Amino acid sequence: MRLVLKYGGTSISTAKDIQAVAKHIYTLSKKHQILVVCSAISGTTDDLIEISESIKKENKSKVKQLTSKIIDKHKQLAKQTIKKSDVRKNLLEKLDQDFTELLALIDGMVLLSEVTPRSMDYLISLGERLSIKLVSSAINDSGKKSISLTGKEVGIVTDSKFGESKPLLDTTRLRVSKMVDTLFSKKIIPVVGGFAGADQYGHVTTFGRGGSDYSATIIGSCIKADEIWLMSDVDGLMTADPKIVKNAKLLKEVSYIEAIEMAMFGAKQIHPRTFEPLLTKKIPMKIRNSFNIKNEGTLVTASTSLSAKNTVKCVSNIPNNALIDIQGGSMVGTPGTAAKIFTTLAKAGINVMMISQNPSESSITIVVKNTDLDKAVSTLEMELLGKIIKKLEVTTNVSIIALIGSGMRGTVGVASKVFGAIEKNKVNVTMITQGSSELNLAFVVKNSDTNTAVQAIHDAFALDKIN
Ligand code: ASP
Ligand code: MG
Repeated sequence: MRLVLKYGGTSISTAKDIQAVAKHIYTLSKKHQILVVCSAISGTTDDLIEISESIKKENKSKVKQLTSKIIDKHKQLAKQTIKKSDVRKNLLEKLDQDFTELLALIDGMVLLSEVTPRSMDYLISLGERLSIKLVSSAINDSGKKSISLTGKEVGIVTDSKFGESKPLLDTTRLRVSKMVDTLFSKKIIPVVGGFAGADQYGHVTTFGRGGSDYSATIIGSCIKADEIWLMSDVDGLMTADPKIVKNAKLLKEVSYIEAIEMAMFGAKQIHPRTFEPLLTKKIPMKIRNSFNIKNEGTLVTASTSLSAKNTVKCVSNIPNNALIDIQGGSMVGTPGTAAKIFTTLAKAGINVMMISQNPSESSITIVVKNTDLDKAVSTLEMELLGKIIKKLEVTTNVSIIALIGSGMRGTVGVASKVFGAIEKNKVNVTMITQGSSELNLAFVVKNSDTNTAVQAIHDAFALDKIN
């Protein structure tokens, strides 16, 4: 099989972890063609982002402290991970070149006290440039040939939208497949830096936070991989948060569309565009734990087998949100009201998580994060109060409970089962939404009712017996 293995930062954050990853790759490579994609060592991207913020604030000592932290951490990992002295020396030399570049880049940015989107992407992509060298050297150390390549070097070409770029797939496919085929024919294992590529002018671009997942599926689709494995520190997708539901189960199989929904809520955060490259090629993906490789994880496929077609697959929750009920007499039958409200919120950079309006049109209810509440309310008051809005009513500390499963579509009685279970537990529901895809049913309860509600739904649908 042709496999793409993507490792998240926590899977490669100590010498022991990197060695274990190299050993696993070594074993797999006896039977399969392997391409590895790596995130930055955990915490590195956060540190690089903090460096950029400190540059803007002209806090030079903080910049210096964080830069040394990154350099020391990687040097130390290199020394602890690699046993063969020639491999270690070679690695340290290569890392030194990257450190020189990092320092020069930061000096330039500090001099200008300026962070442009372009320099920002260059800076924050450096975490992956370092991690791939560690992982690739560890594979060399275990006795297999391997080289490290950045997203740019492997051939990922993107548009020039720094910070949230998208790949230009035709060019990318040609370049990546050529590069990887050559390496595979020489039995070399490529270790590619996730998160970044370069635009047509060669400027480094990134895909946005968590973008290494997306890199893995882009590359997987370019090289016609048989499977893509996302290796992280969780066993896979679960029927509920195991911290809340003691008998929560690992889901053996879900579909792409279900996984997309689950990734938004669950413990396993996946970059939202990750599934796009897989949809046409229908490449199966596995979500697996690098610390528990005996476990097969969750298989994500285009179509789920019949046995896996349960009505509801999981119940997840997002606590700490606020509900805003926007009321106004002149909203009734006035086209453009919703547009005005949402444009106003969008301009203020507020993400709206849930929306509902009843047919009387007398109010629109939205849910935002608790942390966005003040900004949302003041923006709406300043721009629209007394015009299309008469009154805003706010409830803080609410939790969104979401049920996900494509089997809900067309199944009669799901809602009554859900709200019956909720009623039995005397939990009050303040808002309900269901998209017409019937893939996701969500409702809002008080934060303090979260655990009761999640457990009640888990029990009502017998999710502990799902597989
Ligand atoms: N290192 C990047 C981040 O932390 C990309 C990734 O981890 O996928 O966002
Ligand atoms: Mg990450």
